[in-house]
Amino acid sequence: MNYPIIDMHCDLLSYLEYVKGAHPFFEKIGCNLNALKAGNVKLQVMAIYTGTETGSADTGLKESEIFKQLLKDEADKLYLVKDISTLNAAINSDKIGAVVSIENASGFCEEDEPIENAFKKLNKIISNVERVLYISFTHHGENRFGGGNYTKAGLKDDGRKLLDHMHGKKIALDLSHTSDALAYGQLEHIEKYKLDIPLIASHSNFRAMFDHPRNLPDDLAKEIIKRKGIIGLNFLRAFLNNDDPNVFYEHVLHGIKIGGENTMCFGADYFYASEPDPTRIPYYHKDKEDASCYPVLLKNLEGKVAAGFLEKMSHKNVIDFINRIWI
Ligand SMILES: [Zn+2]
Repeated sequence: MNYPIIDMHCDLLSYLEYVKGAHPFFEKIGCNLNALKAGNVKLQVMAIYTGTETGSADTGLKESEIFKQLLKDEADKLYLVKDISTLNAAINSDKIGAVVSIENASGFCEEDEPIENAFKKLNKIISNVERVLYISFTHHGENRFGGGNYTKAGLKDDGRKLLDHMHGKKIALDLSHTSDALAYGQLEHIEKYKLDIPLIASHSNFRAMFDHPRNLPDDLAKEIIKRKGIIGLNFLRAFLNNDDPNVFYEHVLHGIKIGGENTMCFGADYFYASEPDPTRIPYYHKDKEDASCYPVLLKNLEGKVAAGFLEKMSHKNVIDFINRIWI
């Protein structure tokens, strides 16, 4: 069965922004448009990623313009998904649907400007790209909103203001790059003020299967499951398991075991490193090098999972999620 695929996270936009001479068909970035097509990807979430650094908000805005231009330049291949009807159309079309997310809120607010600017700049990005599916407050490090995966910092005052701003806006909160303290702080604030903010982990695996600060502890994964969010499994070797590519399937089975049958999806996290970290090469196991791999991964799950699960993991869980939050 050739399932339509939805993937919750790639870094094509930051590659196009940061790398000189970059183009969307470059074979060394796993989410190049040819690989997405070969993998039957019908919706790819494209992250606006910036570091926390001077000029980050300009970079975030620039990536939103890159997205807009990309959809124009590749109009015969890409299709903007901005509501339920364009989502349904993308799933049934020959094109690759695309929607933006924001990975690191520094992409719309510098560390040293008034917080009110954040909301104006976020609106500007949204007006460029028409829809933002989710926001993660941090990347690995710490910023004015809170602490990232490799820190112990929790939710800060500006993070509380950003949550308040997101209330009722149909933009999900992504826990993939939070410290545990930040994730629990965000949950507490959402609960305390009864905020209407959907919760996801766009590109994360399970700490119970591979112990890494980028992976979700079961308590947080269960919280996402309970709130009818989604969890996109990440393909990076460093987070799956450095040595054994088949641990990917164990992450899937673990997700099902803790109740995530209707939660699991893909969040491959394809990016291009112009200066690769020698300790992490190769970034992906051979069987997950680019986006053409999804059908094979699903095929390998046949017989290991309940009937109907492959349909859910490949696309249906995300479609159901988006239908819940965008109405
Ligand atoms: Zn990431």
